[in-house]
Amino acid sequence: MQYTSPLEDILRTNDRCSCGRAHSCSLQSFYVLPDSSEDFLPELLGRFGARRLHFISSSSAMEALGERVHSRMSSLGYPVSSSVFPPESGFVCDHVSAGDLLIHVPYGTDVIVAVGEKTVCDLAKFVCSKQHLPLIFLPVSASSDTFSMPEAEFTENDRRIRLPVPAPTVIVADISVLSAAPTSSSGAGVASLLADIVSLSDWDLCSSVTGSSRCSELSGLLSDRCRDILRRIENGISPKDSTLMSDLITCLVLAGVISDLTGTLLPVRGSESCIARTAELKLVSEDITDISFETLRGIASLYCVRMYEYLRKNRPDTETARQDFYGIDRVYFNSELFRVFGEKEGHRILSSFGGENYYQTEGRMRRLNLLSRIYDEVMPPLWSSLPSSSRMTSLLRTLSVPTSFYDIGFTREEILDILIWGKELSGSYDITKLLADFLVLEKAAYTMV
Ligand SMILES: [Zn+2]
Repeated sequence: MQYTSPLEDILRTNDRCSCGRAHSCSLQSFYVLPDSSEDFLPELLGRFGARRLHFISSSSAMEALGERVHSRMSSLGYPVSSSVFPPESGFVCDHVSAGDLLIHVPYGTDVIVAVGEKTVCDLAKFVCSKQHLPLIFLPVSASSDTFSMPEAEFTENDRRIRLPVPAPTVIVADISVLSAAPTSSSGAGVASLLADIVSLSDWDLCSSVTGSSRCSELSGLLSDRCRDILRRIENGISPKDSTLMSDLITCLVLAGVISDLTGTLLPVRGSESCIARTAELKLVSEDITDISFETLRGIASLYCVRMYEYLRKNRPDTETARQDFYGIDRVYFNSELFRVFGEKEGHRILSSFGGENYYQTEGRMRRLNLLSRIYDEVMPPLWSSLPSSSRMTSLLRTLSVPTSFYDIGFTREEILDILIWGKELSGSYDITKLLADFLVLEKAAYTMV
């Protein structure tokens, strides 16, 4: 069987890293095969000593790969039960689908094999975490960096929540299948990588300003890989370029793995994710669920890069920011928060402000004092590590991915709310909070709408 395991070094390493920590993650193996990935199953299942299998997929993924995988599993003589959901665009990962799945996994199942995209993967991760089972996942598109992440996204009432669950045990990427997926799927994958570059810059900014820990080795590795892919797709993605497709899925899996290795979502979820989630909350509350988080994150990352660019063009003054800050008007703040996020989410955000929060005057003054000293040292490397907003826009356009919140129907007022208030969903420090510390976030947002 011809396969490669491009992340072997990272997944296997137990040595202490240069950041001082010993990293570990739940994904044990990642394989890339040119085609016929179903033929790899006997070897994989043998390693787990499996006796009874459960198979999870969606009807659309069945056509792409699921049928072949399912019949290969059955031909091996294992008892195989299965749960096949509607196409992934037609259902969400929620407690109904998860509950339905849980009751259909027979007692005595040893291994779960799932074939699909993000929703199938999230459901399978959730069920495996409940039943302590190993999960072998075969993606049918290179569309997301969440496959290998230690979380599952659930839709609950009118919002989406992310539950901590272990990543799959094994991920197998079949390049012939990924290359046959619609271009928009790989486009969403590339948008995720663009967004990861923003997250990595925010992570760097956060550790410089708050002193929180950061692994520069893993951060540098992901950043190099993402930028390499972006450089190679300058003129679009050719599905025939199997090396590129292999590197794209490897980079997406690596992003999730790095969030697992570092024990924090910061390398892959920065200001752009908070902005994307704010946009998502608005869409979900209006029952619009067909726009993926990856798409929103791609758009949001473009706005965040423009925020970094705003600071490059308009040097903020710490002294003015110190003098003009009179503390937060609580009544106004709360009423705006409820207006933008609604009552329930607003209360949830307020209750998440515990202990020394971002808005307390002393903390803010301390940050401004620090920034007046380190600004010229911290910002230039971040500016040079980010692609320019015009380059990002043309990249996203080549991939037929939306480049603005206007493209998905938001009004100017809604976009301003999303850009200015998205930071309330973040528990860490990032570019939006830096702009807010300098009292220029609103000004910057107005230049973008
Ligand atoms: Zn490290």
